[in-house]
Amino acid sequence: MRWSRYFLQTVREAPGDAEAVSHILLTRAGMIRRLAAGIYSLTPLGLRSHRKCERIVREEMDRSGALEVELPILQPRELWEESGRWERYEREEILFHLKDRKAGDYCLAPTAEEAVTTMVRAGVTSYRQLPVTLYQIRTKFRDEIRPRFGLMRGREFLMYDGYSFDAGEEGLDRSYAAQDAAYRAIFRRCGLDFTVVQADSGAIGGTASEEFMVLADTGEDAVVSCAACGYGANLEKAETGRRPAPWRDETEAPLVEVPTPGKGGIDDVVNFLGITAARMIKCLVYESEQGYAVALLRGDLEVNEVALKHVLGVEHLALASEEKVERATGAPVGYVGPHKLPWEKLRVVADESIRDAVNAVTGAGRRDWHVAGFVLRRDAKVEQWGSFAQARAGDPCPRCGKPLAIARGIEVGHIFKLGTKYSKALGCAYTDEKGESHPAVMGTYGIGVGRTMASAVEQHHDGDGIVWPLSLAPFEIALVSLNPADAPTREAADALYDALRQAGMDVFYDDRDERPGVKFKDADLIGFPIRVNVGGRAFKEGQVEIVRRRDKNVRTAPLAGALEAVRALRAELLGG
Ligand code: ATP
Ligand code: MG
Repeated sequence: MRWSRYFLQTVREAPGDAEAVSHILLTRAGMIRRLAAGIYSLTPLGLRSHRKCERIVREEMDRSGALEVELPILQPRELWEESGRWERYEREEILFHLKDRKAGDYCLAPTAEEAVTTMVRAGVTSYRQLPVTLYQIRTKFRDEIRPRFGLMRGREFLMYDGYSFDAGEEGLDRSYAAQDAAYRAIFRRCGLDFTVVQADSGAIGGTASEEFMVLADTGEDAVVSCAACGYGANLEKAETGRRPAPWRDETEAPLVEVPTPGKGGIDDVVNFLGITAARMIKCLVYESEQGYAVALLRGDLEVNEVALKHVLGVEHLALASEEKVERATGAPVGYVGPHKLPWEKLRVVADESIRDAVNAVTGAGRRDWHVAGFVLRRDAKVEQWGSFAQARAGDPCPRCGKPLAIARGIEVGHIFKLGTKYSKALGCAYTDEKGESHPAVMGTYGIGVGRTMASAVEQHHDGDGIVWPLSLAPFEIALVSLNPADAPTREAADALYDALRQAGMDVFYDDRDERPGVKFKDADLIGFPIRVNVGGRAFKEGQVEIVRRRDKNVRTAPLAGALEAVRALRAELLGG
């Protein structure tokens, strides 16, 4: 492809709303263009990288034995009511919906469990027809609360979505493992440094779920990991070992009230009384669809709301307003005390972090007063215990006890043992050897194509622009003619361009009438892994320059040997 006949404009200035490196660089490289919030167009150059990523996914999925299908994007409400998802997704405001001319409700699919289960239930009757894994790579729609970071969190985006159907749990384990292997191959081929972590199974209540995370500062997820034993989990799901307690081996003091005028916050009390936050017990009042609940935990820890939801068995949870706290507990915010709670009326759960709490400080149940010498076992009666404190860097690993680390990660893929939720709801059953009917056991799998492409930019860039891994580069090679006005230079570059193309090389020819500096800047910004310069002093000596984008390493080759030299560098890059 010749730039002079291509549709490509690089941009000097980053878009004002762009925060993520990938958003900035993909825009500046002329690969994506914003149409509206979370809605992007791919230019010819952008589409090439996107398609390469898509092709890698398709090849690995085909290799894994999954079968490609195409499911409708436009889906009727009735189908979503059958599965029970319409109401939930509508409440979460994720669903894009619309009406047809007869006022029927439709949505634009955010995933396709219902549609694929409908396809399978119409065709599968016996265990002999299972397992089957179906997939598609199609546009998805989600009305994200915060669409941002360009392709990373769009409202319209391309997603690989796969669905496995098995006769029994063991079958699901195998299908899940096949997807896991395909995912690893895909992200390796995309040149990504990734880690696989345990994820929350959410309200759907599957049995296992893992996320493929690309570590990067712009990641919207927090990834907890242990370098010693390899434990890894999304912060939402992360557990910890037992944290050292401040009250170990202390003798019990009597409970005394202490004045804390105007000191409602943990920090205020800590400073005022000269104690550590770990010495305090926090009482947090939440509201859920089941009413109020009070969560007790150590003062230096934060609540992991996802974990707390599981402990409480609720779907929605939010901190109660000040008025509601007072109404529910009789005490103002900041002064709620576990010993003064109306236990008979309220649901109270305590975190393991305070199980042996002795001589702790907590609210006195009335404004401007706290209590010291609080002994949980003696002064309050906890009926429900759970682990819902959020993991922190340095906390002990739940498996080996060594300190945990926390990093930012981008979720590029998700695999999920779904179980029978959808097959039960939608009546997708098979009969076993004995003729008994069972719901198919399902797995569901997703990869964001645009997000994967953007993640590659997050991981591979420098001050001059993108450094594409060979596999995702829009073109692998940029051929730059330094002086197209000079006939011998132009003819040599044209000839090399033809030779590279004839050899099947993926080459983009910058034949524009621009200064070499401009061309180099553009090539570096776009991030072609290999650049070949024809012109200048080297050309006078019968040589071309071959530049490796990654480190700007320059080698020269005789013009006649340029093709071979490019081949050699390409092979080198393929090897890692
Ligand atoms: P997130 O937590 O980031 O919102 P999710 O867990 O809701 O994502 P899944 O339903 O697991 O996403 O979707 C599967 C994959 O689709 C994700 O791992 C991600 O790569 C991609 N994806 C999800 N939402 C978006 C989006 N808004 N824009 C681009 N890709 C997305
Ligand atoms: Mg997910």
